[in-house]
Amino acid sequence: MLVLGIESSCDETGAAVVRSDGTVLSDVVQSQVDLHARYGGVVPELASRDHARNIDPVVREALARANVGLDDLGGIAVTNRPGLVGALLVGVQFAKGIAWARGLPLVGVDHLVGHLLAVFLRRPGESSDEAAPRPEFPFVALLASGGHTSIYHVDGPTEDACRELGGTRDDAAGEAFDKVAKLLGLGYPGGPVIDRLAAIGDASRFPQKAPMASVRSLEFSFSGIKSRMARHVADHGIPKDEAEIAALCASFQRAVTDVLAKKLVQAAEMNGVSRVVLGGGVAANRELRERVRTMANARGIDCFVPPLASCTDNAAMIAYAGAARLGRGERDGWDLTATSQTSLLRLTRKGRGAR
Ligand code: ATP
Ligand code: MG
Ligand code: FE
Repeated sequence: MLVLGIESSCDETGAAVVRSDGTVLSDVVQSQVDLHARYGGVVPELASRDHARNIDPVVREALARANVGLDDLGGIAVTNRPGLVGALLVGVQFAKGIAWARGLPLVGVDHLVGHLLAVFLRRPGESSDEAAPRPEFPFVALLASGGHTSIYHVDGPTEDACRELGGTRDDAAGEAFDKVAKLLGLGYPGGPVIDRLAAIGDASRFPQKAPMASVRSLEFSFSGIKSRMARHVADHGIPKDEAEIAALCASFQRAVTDVLAKKLVQAAEMNGVSRVVLGGGVAANRELRERVRTMANARGIDCFVPPLASCTDNAAMIAYAGAARLGRGERDGWDLTATSQTSLLRLTRKGRGAR
């Protein structure tokens, strides 16, 4: 079955055609980064308007690149949570329109489930990757993105099979990258720039303690390290010297990736699971990818790291997660709504009190 996926939860308009086995026929991502860069973050109203402008051409492009028509589709999957409600609604209403007009089944997908399952996508042109095995269930996954940072026990391709083992108490990891980059005058989004500068920086020059590293819990906290960086900049100003900026980036990135990698592997061991998976925009970080691989291998844990295009926001992961729902015969009605909250949090935080 071929599924059209549609993604508009934040600042990327995406559409993709994916087969239920994970084969990606097309994956179009129209980023709004330039639109929001001058504000140093996503402006919700501008995001919604840009999605509304771009959704039709992006969906047409995805169908054209996959060389399929609407009649070839077995269903439509659309991100309906979590995210900016106005942005999500553009995708949801567009998906409903096509589904209604063509009599196609429609399913809403939780964006976070998409990130957790992105490892199953098979993209053309990644020959070694295509051949690489995909994880079996259960696995333990670190989802680290712009809005979320949690570790999940994943026992199947459905949201009720994803159990949160621990998460951040304050900022998401990607948010910390973005805020620190902003402090250092490096622009938005911060992750890719810090990644690039950290590679040439001396991480031992301004050593940072990994946040929450010593606590034997699976919780994270990134606001402290961000404040220490802010204090450093307040006391010394933004360094003029590129090597010094690079050293600050390297020290920050070392501390953050270290705690993320350690707790992911620790979570797998605590739960007797021998497979770890990465997902979310921060999983594109080269140091994180490397540290997780090294730490997992040292403990005899298999490590599955998706290619970069599957880590950052894309509609292919939404189509894949939707295909799993459609394959089980699930359908959503025309009353499908957009909500800002993930259903994963609600499910898993029950009993522990809401956030
Ligand atoms: P969420 O998935 O939580 O709803 P989102 O969709 O905005 O939020 P993603 O697009 O998955 O988040 O990830 C974007 C985040 O990833 C940004 O904070 C960005 O800085 C970060 N990021 C992207 N590339 C890298 C990188 N190479 N290193 C570190 N962080 C990165
Ligand atoms: Mg984004
Ligand atoms: Fe995301």
